Amino acid sequence: MKNVAILGSTGSIGRQALDVVKAHPELFALYGVSAYSSEAAFLALVEEASPQVAVFSRPVPDTDVRWGEQALLDLAADPQVDVVVLAISGIAALKPLLSALRAGKRVAIANKESLVCGGDLVKEALRQGGGELLPVDSEQSAIFQCLQNGRRDEVEKLILTASGGPFFRKQREELRDITPAEAVKHPTWSMGRKISLDSATLMNKGLEVIEAARLFDFSGKKIEVLIHPQSVVHSMVEYRDGTVMANLSTADMRLPIQYAMTWPERAPSPAKPLKLWAQSDLSFYKPDMDRFPALRMAYDCLKAGGGCPVVYNGANERAAELFFSGRLGFLDIEESVAYALDRFRNQPMHDLSDILAADGEARRLVDEFQVTRS
Ligand code: NAD
Ligand code: MG
Repeated sequence: MKNVAILGSTGSIGRQALDVVKAHPELFALYGVSAYSSEAAFLALVEEASPQVAVFSRPVPDTDVRWGEQALLDLAADPQVDVVVLAISGIAALKPLLSALRAGKRVAIANKESLVCGGDLVKEALRQGGGELLPVDSEQSAIFQCLQNGRRDEVEKLILTASGGPFFRKQREELRDITPAEAVKHPTWSMGRKISLDSATLMNKGLEVIEAARLFDFSGKKIEVLIHPQSVVHSMVEYRDGTVMANLSTADMRLPIQYAMTWPERAPSPAKPLKLWAQSDLSFYKPDMDRFPALRMAYDCLKAGGGCPVVYNGANERAAELFFSGRLGFLDIEESVAYALDRFRNQPMHDLSDILAADGEARRLVDEFQVTRS
């Protein structure tokens, strides 16, 4: 029996992780949960799931709920916890990730921003604590599974698939007046609003290119992106003899969440089996980097290293906030990220304070971009 802590329990991944825990009482017990906002929803979840420890961002009077950043970091490192599901969104997941890894936990990681920004710091924490980092992001879970079929030096390339988001067929000019409601309507997955927006700009795939490089230790040259609108093939690995291993399933995040928790075993899953005969078409296209420059910028940042990936992420997080509050347009998101990257003086990231400073600088530059635009 493994004790599980779900950080970011009220979100899209967090709730699906709860489903996985509930579906396997013989394997998992829910030990702890955390959330940042929506106090009422969080308290309802705590009432229903009755974990030993609950952590919220603010004090919740007349309850046993703990609060604040230190309580969150303590839960991530709690000696009672075996598996941490990291379902917090944004760079806010970085400190809890480091805390869990240093304490030697298995971390089932959905959050990609922390891997993109954390770089070598994450590797170091993993080495220090002797824990495990298992990917939840569907593409990375697919690559992880496909990599089990050969040796590392036999790998020709990793092929990440991308749905292309809701605007895959639109021309660049048609994108200018996209509203937040249109941007978060994802064609194949139901997810939190920030990652849905990132899928529409292709920032999500850019982040995933860097995430794959971090997780599997391959350079950008070995990582390719293919648009695959049906989201049935979750990603592939091509070996040097020309064999391509692919991972297919229905688009249900409970599958990769569960695999990260049960690996190296597999257990029955609440996800529906794939009916390939009911699938009319599986198609693949090369991405158009001119129409979606976010992808090109990600490759450039990966190559440049240092603080560039941090700025790519931080500028995008800030631009997303400004887009949702109506202060930036859809195309301004990638333009403001390019603006921040142009002005950032790149340097090596030695520690967490370097990373947080680069993140802060990225956000400041996006605000500067917004002011000059309005
Ligand atoms: P979401 O917005 O639905 O949920 C985010 C959760 O994190 C909530 O519980 C929220 O309270 C908590 N949170 C937000 N800000 C926080 C902060 N500053 N400190 C602590 N907790 C905070 O997000 P989501 O769609 O579930 O995505 C979570 C992560 O998983 C993201 O990094 C995303 O890229 C990744 N991911 C999501 C999916 C998906 O299907 N939703 C798929 C792959 C990867
Ligand atoms: Mg993904």
